[in-house]
Amino acid sequence: MSFITYENRANPHVTIHKESCNQLRKHGGKHVNNQGKYENHLTYKDALQYANSTGLPVKDCSFCNAAN
Ligand SMILES: [Zn+2]
Repeated sequence: MSFITYENRANPHVTIHKESCNQLRKHGGKHVNNQGKYENHLTYKDALQYANSTGLPVKDCSFCNAAN
């Protein structure tokens, strides 16, 4: 299981997802105006560390519950 961070600077936040999250599938890993950025991480800890390093507010996805 790996994790994916979705970074949005237009609506500033970073969301942490499990790789299998349906919310990610919905977006297909691409964003219309290119304001979203996806990064893969091997562990939740890595994802969280990356998310914190962006300086944006960090949220766990409420659909896939990445932290659990
Ligand atoms: Zn999710």
